[in-house]
Amino acid sequence: MKNWVLPVALLAFVCGCEGVTFGQICQGNTFNTRRGSDNWGQGQYGASRGSRSHQGLDINCDDGSVVYAPFDVTLNGRVIVYTDPNKAAINNGINMEGEGLCFKFFYVKPDKVAGTVSKGQRLGVMMNMQSVYPGITSHVHVQMCDRSDPTGYF
Ligand code: ZN
Repeated sequence: MKNWVLPVALLAFVCGCEGVTFGQICQGNTFNTRRGSDNWGQGQYGASRGSRSHQGLDINCDDGSVVYAPFDVTLNGRVIVYTDPNKAAINNGINMEGEGLCFKFFYVKPDKVAGTVSKGQRLGVMMNMQSVYPGITSHVHVQMCDRSDPTGYF
């Protein structure tokens, strides 16, 4: 073994900088631009949602856009986002895993909810968020299964 192999491996373990990065999520948003501030709130992790805090990161996505797999993923079922029937138009999503991460996309109508999808291939379609939140910056909500902060992967 060359004498630099072990230090490099240790560094990667300590800093967690293996470099997992989400690929393009939404058609028309090449660089995963994040939702800033709008009349409904802010898109960053931890933003205020009244008595709660925002537990994901919002990536801009116009209604009706195609949503892509950010890397090679295995699909682990549908996500039910709301119990409120007034939000039925956007009550859908996908639970998936890839690159060692378990995460969910909210507000996406999935093409399928089991099996695998390769990076850059179609997962489904962004739902009609404007019909529920008029004037909001329409977005895919990205949430880690353990509700940790996804920002470092963008
Ligand atoms: Zn969100």
